[in-house]
Amino acid sequence: MKERVKKLVSPEIASLVPYPPGKPIEEVERELGIEGSIKLASNENPLGPSPKAVAALAGGIANLHRYPDGSGYYLKQRLARHLGVEPEMILLGNGSNEIIEFVIRTFVSPGDEVVMAQPSFAVYPIVVKATRGSAVEVPLKGLTHDLDAMLAAVTEKTKVLFVANPNNPTGTVVKGEALDRLIKGVPDGVVVVIDEAYREYVTGDGFPDSLAYVRGGKLVVVLRTFSKIYGLAGLRVGYGIADREVVSYLERVRQPFNVNSLAQVAALAALDDSEHLEKSRENNRQGMEFLFKEIGALGMECVPSEANFFLVQVGRGREVYEGLLRKGVIVRPMESYGLPDYIRVTVGLPDENRRFLETFKEVTRELGG
Ligand SMILES: *Cc1c(COP(=O)(O)O)cnc(C)c1O
Repeated sequence: MKERVKKLVSPEIASLVPYPPGKPIEEVERELGIEGSIKLASNENPLGPSPKAVAALAGGIANLHRYPDGSGYYLKQRLARHLGVEPEMILLGNGSNEIIEFVIRTFVSPGDEVVMAQPSFAVYPIVVKATRGSAVEVPLKGLTHDLDAMLAAVTEKTKVLFVANPNNPTGTVVKGEALDRLIKGVPDGVVVVIDEAYREYVTGDGFPDSLAYVRGGKLVVVLRTFSKIYGLAGLRVGYGIADREVVSYLERVRQPFNVNSLAQVAALAALDDSEHLEKSRENNRQGMEFLFKEIGALGMECVPSEANFFLVQVGRGREVYEGLLRKGVIVRPMESYGLPDYIRVTVGLPDENRRFLETFKEVTRELGG
């Protein structure tokens, strides 16, 4: 059976390594014989979804026998108002991950190249290789996108270039001036995808106004999501903003009912809850400040981040990750991203941050400093 199946699979697909999702908390606890663990591993909003979104879901449940609105009419209208663009410039996805697929399926043919940073979002190379495209990975410089090197990596075969801003897993940002230069320098015919999954967390100066590129007619697709600050990761809804011509092509590869009805209902309500958004941002800001100060006092370095997670250089990342896990604190090891010295920690609630810190102290002490 094994050989028979293998023969059917293209070498590109066979070489892929599935995205490593975290195990369910319940399963980790069962395996380790512990309970009451905390998960700071997937950049989720520790405050949960907006209470308004939760309340709105009740109304959606009564209509579950109906197919969802395949055009996402109301959500697009609402987003268009929110963003100051036309509804025809918006595309809804089953998470912004699905829009990554739309872009690659629409613009990339076998043998074409897609330029991206390394390490960056692990989903980009998977989608590119699955389409028989070639992922050209350009190393970060000082843990930030090296836009000059990325531009230099563009060839006649390049169709798409990804910039995750802030980047995952580093939390670093590309500022407006640097991105302007990239957009100006990219040859005609290359689609630049600016993935802003954590955009709502950014507080620093000089962050690019990426929608201005779209309004200015650039070949740019901006990605946003309800999975991160809006706390709706489980419902799977994200969106892309691009020129209406670009959107009209991406729409062709979309399944008719890709965003489910509850996701649409909850996303609409979440957009109206600016209080929850502000609370989430503030919890993140305070938690980040607390953790940076306390970890810094231990003589360890955190990578400055504009997102809701950050890297800590701990030396032996895998061992620290496993030590924390055994004590019920789940973070993300980074060797699969080529950063074996680091762990990635999502900012939690104040109690969770304190628990992480105390456990982190124990674990690093046990490992000998
Ligand atoms: C989490 C994340 C996303 C969000 O994906 P969804 O499919 O919207 O849940 C997109 N891009 C990056 C870089 C991320 O870290």
